[in-house]
Amino acid sequence: MLAQCEYSTINPLQFSEETLRAQLPFLNLMVQMLPIQTQKEIQQEVTSFLSELIQIDTTNPPGNETKAATWLAENLAAEGFRCEIIESAPQRGSLVTRLKGSGEKPRLLLLSHLDVVAANPAEWTVDPFSGAVKDGYVWGRGTLDMKGMTAIEVMALKMLKRNGVKLKGDVILAATADEEMGGIGGADYLLRNCPEKVFAEYVLNEGGGSTVPLHDKNLFTINVAEKGLLWFKVKAKGFPGHGSVPSAADNAIMRMNKVLDCLGNYRGKPQLAPAVKQFLQEIAREDSTLQPHITRLIETPEQSDSVLAELEKTSPDIAAEIRPRIRMTITPTMIHGGVKENIIPSECEAVFDCRVLPGQSTAEALEFAKNLLKGAGLEKLTFETIQIQEPSESPADTPLYQTITEVLKDVEPGCGVVPLLMPGGTDSRFFRRMGSVCYGFHPLRSENRYGEKATRREHGIDERISVENLVFGASVLYETVKRFMT
Ligand SMILES: [Zn+2]
Repeated sequence: MLAQCEYSTINPLQFSEETLRAQLPFLNLMVQMLPIQTQKEIQQEVTSFLSELIQIDTTNPPGNETKAATWLAENLAAEGFRCEIIESAPQRGSLVTRLKGSGEKPRLLLLSHLDVVAANPAEWTVDPFSGAVKDGYVWGRGTLDMKGMTAIEVMALKMLKRNGVKLKGDVILAATADEEMGGIGGADYLLRNCPEKVFAEYVLNEGGGSTVPLHDKNLFTINVAEKGLLWFKVKAKGFPGHGSVPSAADNAIMRMNKVLDCLGNYRGKPQLAPAVKQFLQEIAREDSTLQPHITRLIETPEQSDSVLAELEKTSPDIAAEIRPRIRMTITPTMIHGGVKENIIPSECEAVFDCRVLPGQSTAEALEFAKNLLKGAGLEKLTFETIQIQEPSESPADTPLYQTITEVLKDVEPGCGVVPLLMPGGTDSRFFRRMGSVCYGFHPLRSENRYGEKATRREHGIDERISVENLVFGASVLYETVKRFMT
């Protein structure tokens, strides 16, 4: 049952002829010489699809992705796709379907996740689960992360079928549960329990594809690597007492204060992973005004703070892209301590989100954090690992990478295409563990100009995707899959 709201009645077909004409080059990629009415229908289809999917609340926890998977299965069944919903637990369903190829080429998986993070309606301009279509955008939690990509993957798959494209390899679609809580009940579950249904030599997933606007061109990113993740809890012990006699107690909150000061202010040593170095070299090549800063950064990474502070003045978006990618980070994200106003607490705990670079391991990172805390009374601290994910990488010199580059350069002549390390993690790591080549590639044109600081709306307020980007994404993805698989 979809949420009822005032926006669900808005007809997404109300685009001006002008908007439609601006999108024709991309639409043409997908529908070739089809009449304008059909092109309009495709635009409407992908927009309504996303709007409806947004209205199915899959906030994780608890997820309840089966509801979305069932809706998706019905949508695909209407086009003749046979879908399977695989549940890792009640209501935690992932959807899988496939377009068969002749077997001459490797398989390609179009991967997405159906769950989303929570959204507080009080902070939003629109109801985050309304799927509102207004001002040329589809609004709502998940439009960018990542139901918007589910929508373009489904659209591309349907168009391959409708156009009767003769595929040389299977194209699989998997829309999974549980990514936002680590993927154990989604992608990881599928690979462990029924790999034959989802495994593919090549995988396209979230995490890249967006553009960095340079001086005179756009730079599209393809994520080829991801930082690793270590979530850990530190518990500080003390001795309880009356709040009026602080000298008689040992306040665990004060001990935690030292821990926070130490870990929260930690600045890892800058290191340039191969994907980051290549990204830097490419942007310097594509935009000569960036060259002096980038050269200094590559030659003397230890001076990155001052170089990035300078770069920030002219190119804040580029500085923001680089910052989280050059060092290990440790961020306090949760804290809990104390039970009553007048009791000095004997316990306080905090959770830290640590991200490690390719080449580093999460075990080393935990040891490193413990070492940093030697001055904070290590004997009164305990450590608990909540979740770990090692960093992962795929090579950039593959036929799929090449195809993506060619399609982008056809669609936008003169654009740059660069490999990039993703600071966060995605389900790609599970597939990389199995040997797949995975790229984060959700084709999106930047809505910012050169020098403007980009607003990050994933997991944020008023998350939305422009209809233009939906059509662009569906078209680029369709063309990429078609070229790669025929
Ligand atoms: Zn995501």
